[in-house]
Amino acid sequence: MQCPYCKRTNTRVVQTFMAQDVFGEFVRRRRACCDCGFRWWTRERAE
Ligand SMILES: [Zn+2]
Repeated sequence: MQCPYCKRTNTRVVQTFMAQDVFGEFVRRRRACCDCGFRWWTRERAE
């Protein structure tokens, strides 16, 4: 996954949460960039 800050792809997953909304289950991932240290959340539909 690409860092939204520096646009590099050297990122890692810090935490993962399962969550649920009206459309079903989804995964929230806390990601961190190994290059600039930027951290952000992603929301991914569970497969
Ligand atoms: Zn970055």
